[in-house]
Amino acid sequence: MATTRFSFTILNRHHSGNRGADPFRHRKTTALERATKTHKTTDMTDRADNSKPDPAQPDEAALRARLTPEQFKVTREKATEPPFSGQYHDHKKAGIYHCICCGQPLFDSAAKFDSGSGWPSYHQPIDPNALTTHQDHSHGMTRTEILCAACNAHLGHVFDDGPRPTGRRYCVNSASLDFKPRPSQPGPQPPNPAR
Ligand SMILES: [Zn+2]
Repeated sequence: MATTRFSFTILNRHHSGNRGADPFRHRKTTALERATKTHKTTDMTDRADNSKPDPAQPDEAALRARLTPEQFKVTREKATEPPFSGQYHDHKKAGIYHCICCGQPLFDSAAKFDSGSGWPSYHQPIDPNALTTHQDHSHGMTRTEILCAACNAHLGHVFDDGPRPTGRRYCVNSASLDFKPRPSQPGPQPPNPAR
C-alpha cells in the first residue's frame, strides 16, 4: 500500500514538473493541429475531384471472374436473356432483389407481379434513387433502359403498361439480380412446415 502511494506521488510530481517546463509542448500541439487540419482538407479535396476509385464501381476483371458469362453479358454488355429462361421470372418468395454486380437493393418482392412476359417484373423499384434510366434506341425501338444507379449494370427496361398503383412495368433480366430472402420476423409467428 505504502509503496503504491509513494510511486503515485513520484509520478504525479514528475508529471507536474514537466507541465509548463517542456519548451516543445506548445510546438508539438501546433504541429498536431496542423496535421489534423491538412488531413481534413485532403479528404474534402478527394471527395470533390472524385480521383479515388469508387468502391461501388466494380472492377471488370473481377466481375468476369465472379459472374456467369450470361450475367456478365446482360449487366455489362446490355444483352437480354431469353424469356422464361431466368431463375426469377416465376419466383414468388418474399425478399429483396439486389444488383448481381454491386449488391445494391433494387426491388422488393412486394412490388413483383406476373406480367406473363417471361422476365421478372415489378411495378416500382425499392427506392427511386436505386435506378437510373437511359433512352435506348436499339433494335428499331425507343425504350427506356433501366440501370443500377450504383454501378451502371444494365437491368432491363421500364414500360408504361404495368398494373396499379404505379402503372409501370420494370422488366428485368434475372441475370442482373441476386435474391436475398427476407429474414423471418421475430415474434409470435406460427411455424410453417410447408416451407
Ligand atoms: Zn449495381
